[in-house]
Amino acid sequence: MADSVSGPVPDADVCARCAQTSTTCCTLAPGQEEFCFPLSATERAAMQAAGALPEHFHSQENTPGFVDNMARLFPGEDETLRQLFPLGGAHDRLALTPEGACRLLGPKGCELPRQARPLYCRLFPFWVRAGAVMYFEFQECQAVRERRGSGQMYLSLGMGEKQARELYASLRLAWGLPKRT
Ligand code: SF4
Ligand code: SF4
Repeated sequence: MADSVSGPVPDADVCARCAQTSTTCCTLAPGQEEFCFPLSATERAAMQAAGALPEHFHSQENTPGFVDNMARLFPGEDETLRQLFPLGGAHDRLALTPEGACRLLGPKGCELPRQARPLYCRLFPFWVRAGAVMYFEFQECQAVRERRGSGQMYLSLGMGEKQARELYASLRLAWGLPKRT
């Protein structure tokens, strides 16, 4: 896990403001659990070093829906993804409450320090597609709702384009995908 990735100081309140008005990115609708992003062994180790416990993780079967969802995240890499997550196998993901909230979500937000959070959490809502940094139009995201140009959104989430690219590259490496920017 690339804990060396650093950037601007985040607006510490944006995710707190988000928690007051939405379910945030830390909650999935019940029934959607299988679509939660995977956790690599290195991510899990970093989380555990920061205090995460076995009950914060869940072993999830590689379902067809999960693999299809991953293929939408990484267009054109279906074959690699089907090898990394073969049907019948399993991967680690975050454990969720019956209401769909991550079990590491406390009253003041994530209980892990930012550098120990899963790479997907640290990158969200940013992503890289076809070599360009973009963001998911997730309307529950306070940073997306408050954006005044992507520069402001980068700043409010404590990163710039360079850091977003570095996090994406670290995520690909951790999840077993070949190097690509
Ligand atoms: S690990 Fe932290 S940031 Fe990620 S979903 Fe759970 S509570 Fe949210
Ligand atoms: S990253 Fe966006 S959706 Fe997630 S808690 Fe922060 S403001 Fe909310």
